[in-house]
Amino acid sequence: MTGTSTSASPLVGRTLRELAGSPLEVLGLGSSLRTRLGRMGLHSVLDLLSHYPRRYHDRTRRAAIAALPVGEEATVVGEVRSVRARPTRTRRALVEATVEDATGRVQLVFFNQPWRRHQLEPGTEVAVHGRCELFRGQRRLTNPVVDVLGRPGAVRTGVIVPIYPQSGVAEVSSWEIQAAVARALEWAGTIAEVLPPALRADLRVIDRPTAYRWVHRPADLEQARQARRRLRFDEFLRMQVGLVARKRALAARVVGIAHPAPGPLSARWRAGLGFALTDDQETAIAEIAADLAAASPMHRLLQGEVGSGKTMVAAAAIVLVVEGGRQAAVMAPTEVLAEQLHRVVRATFEGLEVDAPDTLTGRRPLEVALLTQRTGAAERRRIEAGLADGSVHVVVGTHALLYGEVPFRALGLVVIDEQHRFGVEQRALLRDRARGPVPDVLVMTATPIPRTAAMLVYGDLDRSELRHVPPGRQPVTTVVVPPDPPARDAAYERLRAEVAAGRQAYVICPLVEGSERVVAKAVTAEFERLGAGPLAGLRLGLLHGQLPGEEKDRVMEAFRAGELDVLVATTVVEVGVDVPNATVMVIEDAERFGLSQLHQLRGRVGRGRHPAWCFLFADPTTPTARARMDAMVSSSDGFELAERDLEIRGAGEVFGERQAGIGDLKLGRLPRDVRYVEYARRTAERLLDGDPDLAAHRGLAEEVEDLLGDAVEFLFKS
Ligand code: ADP
Ligand code: MG
Repeated sequence: MTGTSTSASPLVGRTLRELAGSPLEVLGLGSSLRTRLGRMGLHSVLDLLSHYPRRYHDRTRRAAIAALPVGEEATVVGEVRSVRARPTRTRRALVEATVEDATGRVQLVFFNQPWRRHQLEPGTEVAVHGRCELFRGQRRLTNPVVDVLGRPGAVRTGVIVPIYPQSGVAEVSSWEIQAAVARALEWAGTIAEVLPPALRADLRVIDRPTAYRWVHRPADLEQARQARRRLRFDEFLRMQVGLVARKRALAARVVGIAHPAPGPLSARWRAGLGFALTDDQETAIAEIAADLAAASPMHRLLQGEVGSGKTMVAAAAIVLVVEGGRQAAVMAPTEVLAEQLHRVVRATFEGLEVDAPDTLTGRRPLEVALLTQRTGAAERRRIEAGLADGSVHVVVGTHALLYGEVPFRALGLVVIDEQHRFGVEQRALLRDRARGPVPDVLVMTATPIPRTAAMLVYGDLDRSELRHVPPGRQPVTTVVVPPDPPARDAAYERLRAEVAAGRQAYVICPLVEGSERVVAKAVTAEFERLGAGPLAGLRLGLLHGQLPGEEKDRVMEAFRAGELDVLVATTVVEVGVDVPNATVMVIEDAERFGLSQLHQLRGRVGRGRHPAWCFLFADPTTPTARARMDAMVSSSDGFELAERDLEIRGAGEVFGERQAGIGDLKLGRLPRDVRYVEYARRTAERLLDGDPDLAAHRGLAEEVEDLLGDAVEFLFKS
């Protein structure tokens, strides 16, 4: 791509914004159809045009019904001959239909889908996908997937039939959607292109008006493929333009702090560590130090395996900032974690002294304070006074830090532990809170967000990665334990043997649906069952989110001090809890957890000098559940597991609520489309290099603003 190739062409045709602003009324569709489309969430012409076919049916490639193989899955196309509904003896709705083609007929049977009777009006042309069985000598498909291709009497045009995601409940057939989309395409006329021709040529994508036509009415499957390629690229490009622009705008707008280079204090801290930093840690520290030295604010994500030594990297950054005369704030998502982090950070700075010309000795201990919701009023006042006069150098806390009016004298660095609990808004809030120069921000996460996903969701952050754990770690043996008593007893035996040898264990309780109270009840019941049965005689502790704060502390403290053998808990221990003496992790109902979460839990053991075990109590009845359990046994690489998780569960679940705010992936899917993300990223950077305000790319700017909404509203001056 050259500089000149990105110059824009004038916008010709209707923009996506115009299409989004045009209600379905303009198409003259019947009001019943409009209402039903509305129920599917399709309200505007754009909604309809971006309701893409789920797949395409190639009429030339159908299997003959006569040749339908018994016992295998197949797709056939035919016409509905008859349909009838009757209740079964157990009063379930039963719908039977017969479908016929030139070669023969097959029976369809549907349970609990009474609406099928109306869907499968005789004469309707359908594509049916399912496993064929023999039932009383007749071939039949039970609960098959059905796509309605055409209504009775419809002219069967086109070799390629688009199959739309349809809704049986809203009673809209693929055929009706196809007809509505045809109207929409006609009404819209030419849809505006936003990519200059030279750029399209570079990327080898077709133009947009053609893409919208071909995605809905391809003459062959190659046209459909080309169309989807273009539209998918657009989805990723909008997202990346938004993310890159946001990152650049923040960097340009705000005044940051150029911290001085590491000096004697940093050197003393390193010398006192008692171990050598790993290569990964050194690299990350160097990257961070370079950011800190620069005048623009750092915005960096530090990713690393559980126990890979992120906290030590953060400590290096903190000591550097303190050495330069500024303060650091460290934030954790929960009070338990804040307290633990406080302990670790304070311990690593034990004995360090900071220059303090105003004192008698000219020195003062590097002071690390803890500030949470539970900090008493007097203590809070003392800490705040220390932060205000600069005698407290580092404060560790929870959200309280974020929302309270904490008066820093010179806040220079904010470290956020376990990013996934913090939202984008909270980061923004923090930045805005700082008066004067904007502090640098380091976000640590133990969630191994796949590289692709990170680019997508955290595209406005730079990244450092700790890929290898420090040497000397013990491997964790992972065993999947089926639900039969001898297998479970063997796992409990191992746990008892470890406790007898002075080690400790976690039992993570079933993932039950419901309120915190319901969860607490389930875990309490399990705690009692274990105490009376398999783990009788051991010292058990109970930990869940409903316990009062002091009780939680007491239990955690007792476990840490070795006064408890087993901690029976909910996933509250998932993140960051660090008890090196624990060597057994039992996870009940393991098949119900995501891979990343299981990996987090497993990471709670194997942190000390002793070999460790992770027992996954599971009854994986589905192939995906089995695949997940197998992945846990075969891999201890969190990044790999995260990619697998993404594959198995889909991006939506991994991004959770974030996704709503970040984009409109309809065709794009991860990790399948990594390459698209990378192309889109590079394209976005180049476009913005040559045209920072997108003044010459108004069409694209408009789409990005519509897509990302308030988050980027301020980015492009129109
Ligand atoms: P993370 O925050 O990534 O979970 P931590 O920074 O808490 O990891 O480190 C986990 C443990 O490993 C701590 O006990 C820490 O002191 C120790 N550790 C960190 N870096 C090293 C290293 N380079 N060599 C040996 N031990 C290390
Ligand atoms: Mg940590």
